[in-house]
Amino acid sequence: MSEPMILDGKTLAKETRKALKQQIQALQEKHPNAKPVLATILVGDDPASATYVKMKQTSCKKVGMESLKVEMPKQTTTAELLAKIQELNADENVRGILLQHPVPKQIDERVCFDAIALEKDVDGVTCLGFGMMAMGENVYGSATPQGIMTLIDHYKIDLKGKDVVVVGRSPILGKPLAMMMLNKHATVTICHSRTENLADKVKAADVVVGAVGIPNFIKAEWIKDGAVIIDAGYHPAENCGDVDLAAAAEKSSAYTPVPGGVGPMTIATLIAQTVDSATKYYQ
Ligand code: NAP
Repeated sequence: MSEPMILDGKTLAKETRKALKQQIQALQEKHPNAKPVLATILVGDDPASATYVKMKQTSCKKVGMESLKVEMPKQTTTAELLAKIQELNADENVRGILLQHPVPKQIDERVCFDAIALEKDVDGVTCLGFGMMAMGENVYGSATPQGIMTLIDHYKIDLKGKDVVVVGRSPILGKPLAMMMLNKHATVTICHSRTENLADKVKAADVVVGAVGIPNFIKAEWIKDGAVIIDAGYHPAENCGDVDLAAAAEKSSAYTPVPGGVGPMTIATLIAQTVDSATKYYQ
């Protein structure tokens, strides 16, 4: 069998940032008063969330866009967070709002996500945005699945008529990705913790997506020869994803490495959607 193609998200994300930098420069030359900002909201003091938010702000800086860091204490109420979101919705410089998941337990996260104005929902978290995306409307998708779709498109992987198995159905990853792939004419099976005969389902797939959150969960013997593997998981301690890529990659026709596959595309997509939101606003 020939060597599998590596779906290199790290390089594509770098190229994307370069293009976005030029787009921001062009926007500011045309509209010198334009100061597009991505507002990031971090509630509480979870260190992993703080790291993710910092990475997103660093990425803004790399493309020459400002970010506004909103930090709220862990005892914040739903009403207080909603008031902050409304304030950011009304701020014309803020062209994207990111509410870092998860928020502390006393907050109704769904209500807060849904308060984000659709045109500023650059992380694709609102129910309205999800519904419109599922119907094939042009809205910002959830950043990780949208990044996966950009990667698939870049490497000209045609999903039409393909049997796709997505393992995981979270609102930010498995479920929206399944809809996006369905819209590209794939035949999609969504699996989850109550799925029976998971191995047999994966064995029949032309494209397998690992979105489970368990290190090396999808085994090499489940992978059909020549399948495409998209591994969205990342487990830094084990330095692996959700698919046992060390053994499975060689059976595939193409795969996303971990790290350097899906991860870098997530932040690049968030920034790209914010730049798009700004461009649409100022044009
Ligand atoms: P999540 O919210 O925990 O969802 C995990 C999904 O996996 C759930 O739908 C769950 O099913 C399913 N699942 C759990 N155990 C299973 C089992 N034994 N068999 C089959 N399905 C099972 O996780 P997530 O936020 O979607 O993240 C998934 C992975 O992607 C994680 O590794 C995470 O680190 C990674 N991720 C990466 C990025 C990135 O930027 N690279 C972004 C987001 C997430 P139920 O619905 O039945 O519980």
